[in-house]
Amino acid sequence: MKGKVKPLNPRSCIGCRKREDPMTLLRVVSIDGKLTPDPDRTLPGRGAWVHMECVVKAVERLAFGRALKVDQFLDSSLLTAYALSKSN
Ligand SMILES: [Zn+2]
Repeated sequence: MKGKVKPLNPRSCIGCRKREDPMTLLRVVSIDGKLTPDPDRTLPGRGAWVHMECVVKAVERLAFGRALKVDQFLDSSLLTAYALSKSN
């Protein structure tokens, strides 16, 4: 079999704005005002893409609200806890 993997469209990290292969980025969606990590990319709705190490920066810059087109305050505790658990 010819193992040609279809390349994924690059996505911009909302923390550092670098365009990346989505495989290297974490997808984040907003559920009931909570920023929710979606590592399996299965959750419906609009997603924001961010490097694991850019999560905190993106939260501080309120970049998620812009990327997800949400005006309300977004609770980032779930997401930052996730990012912290993944980085060391
Ligand atoms: Zn980044």
